[in-house]
Amino acid sequence: MSLDISKIRQDFKILNQTLYGKPLAYFDNGATTQKPQVVLDTISHFHNSINANIHRGVHKLSEESTKAYEEARETVRDFINAKKTGEIIFTSGATASINLVAFSFGETYVHEGDEVIVSEMEHHSNIVPWQMLCERKKAILKVLPFDDNGEIILSKLEELITPKTKILAVTHVSNTLGTVNPIKEIISIAHKHNVPVLIDGAQGVKHGIVDVQDLDVDFYAIAGHKIYGPTGIGVLYGKEKLLNEMVPWQGGGDMISTVTFVKTTYNELPFKFEAGTANFIGAAGLATALKYYKSVGIDAATDYETELLNYATSKLLAIDGVRIIGNAKRKAAIISFLIENIHPYDTGMILDKMGIAVRTGNHCTQPIVDHFGIDGTVRASFAFYNTFEEIDRLIEGVKKVKEMFG
Ligand code: PLP
Repeated sequence: MSLDISKIRQDFKILNQTLYGKPLAYFDNGATTQKPQVVLDTISHFHNSINANIHRGVHKLSEESTKAYEEARETVRDFINAKKTGEIIFTSGATASINLVAFSFGETYVHEGDEVIVSEMEHHSNIVPWQMLCERKKAILKVLPFDDNGEIILSKLEELITPKTKILAVTHVSNTLGTVNPIKEIISIAHKHNVPVLIDGAQGVKHGIVDVQDLDVDFYAIAGHKIYGPTGIGVLYGKEKLLNEMVPWQGGGDMISTVTFVKTTYNELPFKFEAGTANFIGAAGLATALKYYKSVGIDAATDYETELLNYATSKLLAIDGVRIIGNAKRKAAIISFLIENIHPYDTGMILDKMGIAVRTGNHCTQPIVDHFGIDGTVRASFAFYNTFEEIDRLIEGVKKVKEMFG
């Protein structure tokens, strides 16, 4: 199925604007994606017609609001093919989902001298919560390295795992290198040693179909705003058995069953991990975004983004002095690059003046830039609403930057 990009672009009004007199070319989708009109309409409709707090009301609006929230949970369950809605925890984002596991799983399972493994290509969100856990528990953080192409060195994984390893946390797709990690294989290796796996799916869920049962993944973290949904909403998928064994992360309303000053008992899944007023409007917006993404066609969108990636890669490599950081065999539509002797920040600033939005810096992955001994990169990350013409403008922009600094 091929995509009608000009029709799709009509769903994203924000793309249809000029900056500094130039049409916007938005290539910062790794940081956040734009929202289709249906998502904005869902949010606005919710505020205008249904808004009432969930789970605690007998009145009509509260019932409708609760129904929309729980339907959103079912939409997410279906989207990632989880077994049960109880395994879908709404959070504020991928970062919160990972922190939840690092705390709650960590409290239950990680003790002094135990080990936690993360990869060298993780976003800070999938490093720091584990470091904090290790500091709290006097546990040891071990690092699974990647090679100079940006591929995880799988043979090292078996070497790193010991009887003390309690969890492995790896990203599905690197937000800096674009690498799509072989997560099914990684999970299977870890499971051979009875080590559960958390996959950071902040970028992964936007690049192809995710089936948590097929992956047999233990935890999968999702950020709503990176998959065409609103900010402030995310998801933690977790296997029921593990979630049931874990202690709650935060205390408050909704996560309890009974409260007395002597003892509090906790609610069942998923509510045990959803303390306080949930972002129920965000959840409804996310559900609409997932339905929209499905209606575009996830495979078709991924294939088209791969075409954009290949086109941009070959055009960039044809420019003298351009170096791509991250050359894995399997990549999502994310390109990090450098122009010889030109600081990424200068490149980003000049491209911006041409209406081209890229991201510059270490992209919250300082260990990656340290690996390559660089300050940072220029990153262009594509979505299915981007066009080949926009990439041509990026290429012209890069040539102009070279001329200006040359
Ligand atoms: N993990 C990866 C791979 C990311 O790219 C990001 C955001 O850029 C995150 C985690 C954190 O996502 P959020 O800040 O939306 O929680």
